[in-house]
Amino acid sequence: MTGVKLLFAHDTECSLIAATALVNTAGRDGELLPDVAALDAFFTQHAYSGRHEHTDAELRAVRQLRPRLRRVWHAEPPEVVDIINSLLREHRALPQLIEHDDEPYHLHAVPRDAPLATRMAVEAAMALADLVRMGELSRLRTCEYPDCDNVVVDLSRNRSRRFCEAGCGNRAAVTAYRARRAAGRS
Ligand SMILES: [Zn+2]
Ligand SMILES: [Zn+2]
Repeated sequence: MTGVKLLFAHDTECSLIAATALVNTAGRDGELLPDVAALDAFFTQHAYSGRHEHTDAELRAVRQLRPRLRRVWHAEPPEVVDIINSLLREHRALPQLIEHDDEPYHLHAVPRDAPLATRMAVEAAMALADLVRMGELSRLRTCEYPDCDNVVVDLSRNRSRRFCEAGCGNRAAVTAYRARRAAGRS
């Protein structure tokens, strides 16, 4: 094995990143899944595979998942556990190891031909269940940039991630730079 050891299993990290991105499609930048084409792009970007209908009904179902997932970032552990367990129960999750598309063995808990929103929900729930089991829910945070309510998953070793993926890190760096310049002049 080469490279840095992951904190969590590869599929868990991918699912957490995808769930975070999905929640943030209804975040500081408004509706980022306005149409089927936007969902297609999201699907490709996060390397989803399996059933994908390209329909408004599918898009609606994916959008409806977001507030429930967002709640996981803001709720206390008993409610977080309740959300995760309900998602797994509702979709009759049955974890199975599978191999496909050159990916090593990883867990799927619903069939690949289950609706996209179902697979997104269950993948997120499985990954979030890992966080709970490892006592790592503190890795789910809100972006620290003023007035940004995007969510963040901090998968860094030293828990250093403070800002969301929507450019807040750069915005914060620019603000800090200007503050230093202003301080230097006075
Ligand atoms: Zn897979
Ligand atoms: Zn942000």
